[in-house]
Amino acid sequence: MDLKLDNYSDYYRFKEARFQLVDRLRQRGIRDERILSAMNKIPRELFIDPAFIHQAYEDTALPIDCNQTISQPYTVAFMTQCLNLKEGSKVLEIGTGSGYQATLLYLMGMRVYTVERVYELFLKARNLFEKLGVQAMTKWGDGTLGWKEFAPYDGIIVTAAAPKVPEPLLEQLAINGRLVIPVGDRSYQAMYIITKVGEDQYKQEQENYFKFVPLIGEKGWRNGEFTD
Ligand code: SAM
Repeated sequence: MDLKLDNYSDYYRFKEARFQLVDRLRQRGIRDERILSAMNKIPRELFIDPAFIHQAYEDTALPIDCNQTISQPYTVAFMTQCLNLKEGSKVLEIGTGSGYQATLLYLMGMRVYTVERVYELFLKARNLFEKLGVQAMTKWGDGTLGWKEFAPYDGIIVTAAAPKVPEPLLEQLAINGRLVIPVGDRSYQAMYIITKVGEDQYKQEQENYFKFVPLIGEKGWRNGEFTD
C-alpha cells in the first residue's frame, strides 16, 4: 500500500528527518516493523498546520485546526502496536483529527473507519484522504457512540481523552478485539488496553501516562466541562 503523492518531492523533502524519527521510535521500544515502515512513507508535514512545518519530525504533538492536535508520533505508534492487528482487520478510530493515524492504519493494510466530531476537521481529513488515495470510511458525528452500522470491529482506537470507557465501544468490539483508549482526568490519562475475551467478558491492561485533548460527546466529557 502506498500514498498517491503529487510528485516525489513530498516524499523526499524530509526523508532523512522522517527516517531519523522512525529510528527514535524503534529505540523507544516500537517493535512492529509494519508500523515503522508505514510511518516512513507518511509525509507528516502534510497533516499539520504549515506554521509548524519545521517541527513536523519532532516526536511531539502539534497543533492542527480548531484547537486540536495531531498526536505525538510515539503515542500513535504505541497505540497502534497495542491494537495488535492483523492485515485486513477492521478498525474503528474515534477522533480523525488530521487523518494521520487513519493513514497509518490504511498503509498497514487495515479496513479503516474513522469518526470526527468537528465538521471542519472531518471535511479537511476527507479531502486529504482523497488526494492521497487513502481508502477510509469517514463519518462526522459523536464517536463516543461508536459506528454501529459496521460493527463489530477487530480494533477500536480512541485518540482523545475519555472520563470513562464508553459502553457502545465495548459492545461494538469483536471477540478477541481490542479497544485502546486514554482514560483519566484533564491533567493526565492512563492508556487502557481492553481485550474482549467473551460476550461481556473483558481483560484490561494499563499503561501510564498520556495527555490528550478531551473526548467530547454523549458518553464522554460534556462540551465546556473539560477546560485548562
Ligand atoms: N487521530 C488524530 C490524528 O491522527 O491527527 C489526532 C486526534 S486529536 C488528538 C483528537 C480528535 O478527537 C480531535 O480532532 C477531536 O475533535 C476529536 N474528538 C473529540 N471528541 C470526539 C468525539 N466524541 N467523536 C469524534 N471525535 C472526537
